[in-house]
Amino acid sequence: MEQNIIKMEIKVAKHAGFCFGVKKAIEIAEEVAQNNKRDTYVYGQLVHNEKVIKDLENKGIIFIENINEIPQNAVTVLRAHGEPGTTYELLEQKSIVKGKNLNDATCPLVTLVHNVAIKLKNNGYEVILFGKANHPEAIGTSYHLKGKDTFIVEEPEHADNVIDYIKNNDFEKIAIISQTTMSVYGYKKLIDNVNSELKDAKFEEIPLSLKDLTKKYGYVDTICNPTKQRQSDTEELAKECDIVIIIGGKNSSNSKELYAKCKEFGVESYFIQSEEQLQKEWFIGKEKIGVTAGASTPDYLINEVVERIKDMANFKKEVLLNLKI
Ligand code: SF4
Repeated sequence: MEQNIIKMEIKVAKHAGFCFGVKKAIEIAEEVAQNNKRDTYVYGQLVHNEKVIKDLENKGIIFIENINEIPQNAVTVLRAHGEPGTTYELLEQKSIVKGKNLNDATCPLVTLVHNVAIKLKNNGYEVILFGKANHPEAIGTSYHLKGKDTFIVEEPEHADNVIDYIKNNDFEKIAIISQTTMSVYGYKKLIDNVNSELKDAKFEEIPLSLKDLTKKYGYVDTICNPTKQRQSDTEELAKECDIVIIIGGKNSSNSKELYAKCKEFGVESYFIQSEEQLQKEWFIGKEKIGVTAGASTPDYLINEVVERIKDMANFKKEVLLNLKI
């Protein structure tokens, strides 16, 4: 079998793995745990990656899904995804507050989306969110809008629901914003789909600076740059490789988007969590292998996957390239 593979090239996306927001959140949690004689609690999955969570648990960090289970006055870390205000209120009731024992690792790019949502709302806009309703970031952003009643659209194909929502209400102004980890292509498609159904006015882009808030229908590009870079690098890989391996946690929204991107381009692709899932047969007859990873994947997992592919393929020539984007 191995003689089928003579020459092979492995391309690792330049922007793959941890984004700065996730990196920072992990650093904060580790530092707090190291300098703290008591237990350190993290509310929710700090990062959507099972292996990383296990490593942190081994360092003594306790992950709690139910906020009621965090003990009174506990040293607590909040993850990068951003929390609704109710989280801070509940923690305050347990004497867990910023400046004392609460370490907030919310990514500044998520805070930016919250601020955009608040400003649009305060300027008379009904704000619709393009995101995953159950994702912690969407829940956090919704808090600044209408809470559970915030209109969330999950797929570009659900544009009809947006149209119905607009038609069944008499909103003066409407703005669409996006969760930071959604697909750039999907967001554009959603706007196009909605616009194709509208007669009186179209959704036009409102710059992130929000200087001009006079448009009746507007959308703001709130997908973060690290997400965009990972998506565009993956697109390059999908175009030029015979197979693309995407590494990411099962619940990682941005990793799933990378997988969807590869599927969209019709390239053979596999979404894995670690090197143990790789199968030798995948690489038979393949010359160009792409490797990419979502924002919640550590470098060591990427390296392990690359090394394992090399072992499996037993190839004669290795070219490990970074994409020049
Ligand atoms: S994906 Fe973007 S918004 Fe989310 S933590 Fe990373 S940099 Fe921040």
